[in-house]
Parts: sequence; C-alpha cells; structure tokens
Amino acid sequence: MSDSLDAELCVADCERCPALVDSRSRIVNGTGPVDADLVFVGEAPGANEDEQGEPFVGRSGTVLDDALRDAGLARRDVRITNCVRCRPPENRDPTTEELSNCRGYLAEELRRLDPELVVTLGKVPSEHLLDRSVAVTSEAGDVFDARVGDTTHRLLVCVHPAATLYDRSQEETFQETIRQAAALAGVGAAGDDGDGQSRLGDY
Ligand code: URA
Repeated sequence: MSDSLDAELCVADCERCPALVDSRSRIVNGTGPVDADLVFVGEAPGANEDEQGEPFVGRSGTVLDDALRDAGLARRDVRITNCVRCRPPENRDPTTEELSNCRGYLAEELRRLDPELVVTLGKVPSEHLLDRSVAVTSEAGDVFDARVGDTTHRLLVCVHPAATLYDRSQEETFQETIRQAAALAGVGAAGDDGDGQSRLGDY
C-alpha cells in the first residue's frame, strides 16, 4: 500500500457546499487499501461517520462488516468511500449540486484505485454513478459499466446495508450481493486458492 497515494486521495479542505461546511465536523475520506480490488461507494457520512472520520462505522457499517466476513473478507481488505464526503444536515440526502461538487474527488479516487469492481450501496450512489433512475431492490446484483470522469468502471448495484435493518427481507439480498461482489472481484472466500490461507478477515 502506498501511504502517499492514500494521502493524495484525501480531501483536506473543501468549501464548495456551504450547507455541508456548516453541518460537518470534518471531511470523511475513503478508507482502505489503495490497491483494493473491491470498492464500496455509499451516499454520504452520517452522525457516526462525521464523529469518527470514517465511512460506514455506525449500524450500517456493522451490517456491512458482517456481510464482508460472511464472504471471507474484512473491512481492511476493501476500500470504502462515499459520493459526498461531508455529513448533510439532519441526515438528508445530498442535493444534486452537492453530489456534483464532490464527484471529481470520487472520480479521481476510482481512477487512481482502478479496482476490479465498484459496488454502489443504495439508491443515491447507484443513480449518481449510472446517471439514471435505479430500482435498487430489483436491480441488486446487476452489473453495469459506469463512466465516472474519464474512466469506465465495472459496477455492481447493491441495496444499502441500512435497508436490512428496517426490512428483513433485504438481508438475504444484501448478503448475496456482497458474496457476488467478492466472486466478481476474485477476493475473499471466492479468491481462495485452496491453500486455506484466504483472507478470512477478523475470524
Ligand atoms: N451511509 C452511507 O451511505 N455512508 C456512510 O458512510 C454511512 C452510512
């Protein structure tokens, strides 16, 4: 892993979105290896992420961690980032303008990482990166090519981990999509070469 690239992918200061400058306590950058094969893209930081400075560390993060473990992966094996890096007030969705203001940072992060697969967690990142409306529940598990900035990425649509908390029927869909993501990227249990040394994460 390159510490300098990791630093280059971090936005240290940005004041493009006045409402977000007011509501954030910090900028929440992506975390995880810069050579990750798998990149997860969420919507925007919530209260826990804003407090701790890391994406998906609240209840949604626990759901994601559990599904990763089930697929033979740990958080440290993947990169996790968001469409928007600052917490919106009252956890509202980011506006089109805020998404657009932050898009260049995400495009550059994805271009430099050049992962095998980008997984969009929920409706906002799926629609933002595919540039169309997306029915996430019915399209979960579908793979598309997405043009982000000047680069095309292979993208897998996934429901947001929080969806499993208020709709139990989404749980299997979420876990299955994460297993599919590992298989498509050739990592975790799916990337095990049979020597028993697969990255079993936090087991
Ligand atoms: N939901 C998101 O979309 N991103 C986070 O970082 C946390 C929750």
